[in-house]
Amino acid sequence: MPKPLSKALIKKAATTRFPTPILPDAFSAHTREEKIAAIARHMKGIMEVLGLDLKNDSLAQTPERVAAMYVDEIFAGLDIEAFPNVTLFEDQGHEVAPTIGRLVITRVNIVSFCEHHLVPMIGTAYVGYLPKDKIIGLSKISRIARYFAARPQLQERLSAQIGDSLATLLGHPDVAVMIKAQHSCVIARGTKDEASATTTFFTSGIFKTSAEYRKEFVDMSRGMAD
Ligand SMILES: [Zn+2]
Repeated sequence: MPKPLSKALIKKAATTRFPTPILPDAFSAHTREEKIAAIARHMKGIMEVLGLDLKNDSLAQTPERVAAMYVDEIFAGLDIEAFPNVTLFEDQGHEVAPTIGRLVITRVNIVSFCEHHLVPMIGTAYVGYLPKDKIIGLSKISRIARYFAARPQLQERLSAQIGDSLATLLGHPDVAVMIKAQHSCVIARGTKDEASATTTFFTSGIFKTSAEYRKEFVDMSRGMAD
């Protein structure tokens, strides 16, 4: 039977060595309802300054709708308590020594929000690790990636957080994360280059020290891209 992970380990996995700049316990300092009410009030102020008529049927509920979306969905990953419930399994089917052929890569579609403009970045994450004595459910890897995506983010930090969190859970550093994403702030404003995409690459452990493992990861990820 897999044993549940300790609270301290989950906290470490949710915080990582590349933490999002948040005030300590800021997210848990208010109830969900308090947060939604306060954000809605501010959003209403922004819309009024823009000259929008909040008495219009179509706009009337927008402040509350945006506030609930921030708290419950797109920024829900600011709450450490929302870290996915992860269990690890003993990898009994394999010998302990890692081999290049046993690299596991999960492809995850992600939507995150650039912390400079709070507009979407949309892309694909390739999350790889070498199973040793423990393996992690593939759906859990998707959940971890989406948990960190549900924050105001930098693509570089998102890659590092996913990788570092996974390394913490697995208890070893052999992880790699590559994210290719398009940023709405580049497409819709500034240079308005709708063809642009950014790739970020986080490696640690064997993926950092071995060009062979790094190449295997990149080749396999390329093979999974559509
Ligand atoms: Zn931006």
